[in-house]
Amino acid sequence: MSKHYITCKHCQTENVNTDYCSHCGKIINIVLERQLEQQRIKEERIQKEIHREPTATEKVFLKLRHHSNPIVRILYLIVHTVWLVVATIAAGIAYLVGMIAA
Ligand SMILES: [Zn+2]
Repeated sequence: MSKHYITCKHCQTENVNTDYCSHCGKIINIVLERQLEQQRIKEERIQKEIHREPTATEKVFLKLRHHSNPIVRILYLIVHTVWLVVATIAAGIAYLVGMIAA
């Protein structure tokens, strides 16, 4: 195995065949550093998605679903069901078009 010299950019210590600085312990392998950075960003995004507030539309839907007036709740259910059916048909058409085009 060839010797691979990397100078630590934090303390300028010369290191051989290592991913971490022997003097200050910081990451000196650029590839590894980038991978860890990308992993950190990805985890941050996931955390943000888990803890995010519901959007304005979602809030309206939630309010309608638990509305005190039963007529509003039934209307919400009908609209929601129609929306699901339309979305399913649209997905089916998109699938068919995709199959024909392929
Ligand atoms: Zn160092």
